[in-house]
Amino acid sequence: MTVETTTKTYLNFINGKWEASSSGKTVASNNPSNRDDVVGIIQVSTKEELDQAVFAAKHSQKAWKALTGSERGAYLYKTADILENRMDEIAETMTREMGKTLPEAKGETARGVAILRYYAGEGMRKVGDVIPSTDNKALMFTSRVPLGVVGVISPWNFPVAIPIWKMAPALIYGNSVVIKPAQETAVTCAKVIECFEKAGIPDGVLNMVTGSGSVIGQGLVEHPDVNGITFTGSNEVGKMVGQGALARGAKYQLEMGGKNPVIVAADADLDIAVEGTISGAFRSTGQKCTATSRVIIAGEIYEKFKEKLLEKVKEITVGNGMEDGIWMGPSANESQLNTALSYIEAGKQEGATLLIGGNRLTGAAYDKGYFIEPTVFENVTTDMKIAQEEIFGPVLALIQVNTFEEAITIANDVKFGLSASIYTKDIQSMLSFIENMEAGLIRVNAESAGVELQAPFGGMKQSSSHSREQGEAAKEFFTAIKTVFVK
Ligand code: NAP
Repeated sequence: MTVETTTKTYLNFINGKWEASSSGKTVASNNPSNRDDVVGIIQVSTKEELDQAVFAAKHSQKAWKALTGSERGAYLYKTADILENRMDEIAETMTREMGKTLPEAKGETARGVAILRYYAGEGMRKVGDVIPSTDNKALMFTSRVPLGVVGVISPWNFPVAIPIWKMAPALIYGNSVVIKPAQETAVTCAKVIECFEKAGIPDGVLNMVTGSGSVIGQGLVEHPDVNGITFTGSNEVGKMVGQGALARGAKYQLEMGGKNPVIVAADADLDIAVEGTISGAFRSTGQKCTATSRVIIAGEIYEKFKEKLLEKVKEITVGNGMEDGIWMGPSANESQLNTALSYIEAGKQEGATLLIGGNRLTGAAYDKGYFIEPTVFENVTTDMKIAQEEIFGPVLALIQVNTFEEAITIANDVKFGLSASIYTKDIQSMLSFIENMEAGLIRVNAESAGVELQAPFGGMKQSSSHSREQGEAAKEFFTAIKTVFVK
């Protein structure tokens, strides 16, 4: 495997051209496995570049919208092919830039390719319904129109898949796009944008401006010519984005945090439940919105489950995700590492019992990165911070219960409602779980993380603004409905 070693400067992509910011300021994107490794240099842009990007997007959108869906789809098919050809290189950049292991990064890039192809096909599917009128001389139907300019604000934890699952539907339904990727992973995003450029996307239809959330992100939210904002990130920022968009009547979509439970019922297949819990809690170093953070376990099998789980946690190899044999990479940056460590400290202070892990890894292989041990607590009560707040790190809480009803009550006793999972063979337990769980993603005998790309994705309660991403459901956000009556 040849890993890129040169440090390249990445520019903004505005109206079909790569341009430096007028600020003259740049920032390095570093490798969380080795902070001396600079993955790329990115622009710290100003409102000036943002205005130029929105202007280009606004003025190109009319011609883009005038294309047929299949013509727009052809650009997405071409982009998918180019991304597929660059899969290894872009996955390596992702691993270097945010730390997830190379197999995970390749899986995510393949997912990006599949999303592009899915939405390319969507350009050929129906965009409205005929509705029977009470007047038999009239024709009544709905038609869907693009919003105009869509602002995309994306996080660092899925730097290929999330931008694509927002940009692809925005584009196929005739919107133009300005994306502000997380600074943390702007190099990976720039490479995705290069694929669109190579596919010949018309000038101005897709623009990328890098920079801080408080300048470029907030600037997009407040810009009068941005008609829709799709955001994925933390609840704290999401609330500001929602309020800002609402204040000027722009459409908005927020995908935010989770505190996802797994219930392990007394009749569960424990090997399958352990495998799903390990993957849900520790893949991507726990930095997934759908990560498992609480396991609620029936008393009868608690000790057996715990024993099997701890055996598997001991087998987790932590290190540079680029290396063979590494199962869990580092935290994406120092601040993520410190957040996870501070929650571990809070867990200890509040009286939970630390079963395994709990420390930053040190030593020659680790000192230049942000490595942390996979961590498991027991004797966790629902009032503790580690049972209530999103940690976004490899920290798992075990909670023992006596009844199924108690398990459901505890599972729901958080402000989030993104994903929830149960392991059981009993159909009544499954049905009760499906009926009573307050979560947008319900998983039975499957880990809490992961939803197929053609299915709606989103949460309940404070996890989301309740519209859905992915699949056909994305149409709801990226288009507006016109109800037409013709007589
Ligand atoms: P974040 O800090 O909220 O950042 C998300 C994006 O918002 C980044 O591009 C950030 O820019 C930008 N931003 C920051 N301040 C802003 C402001 N004032 N106005 C507009 N934009 C602003 O989240 P993160 O740390 O990147 O991602 C982790 C969070 O994302 C977790 O809470 C996780 O649960 C959530 N997440 C949710 C989903 C889901 O689908 N539900 C999926 C993945 C992640 P900069 O960082 O570049 O400054």
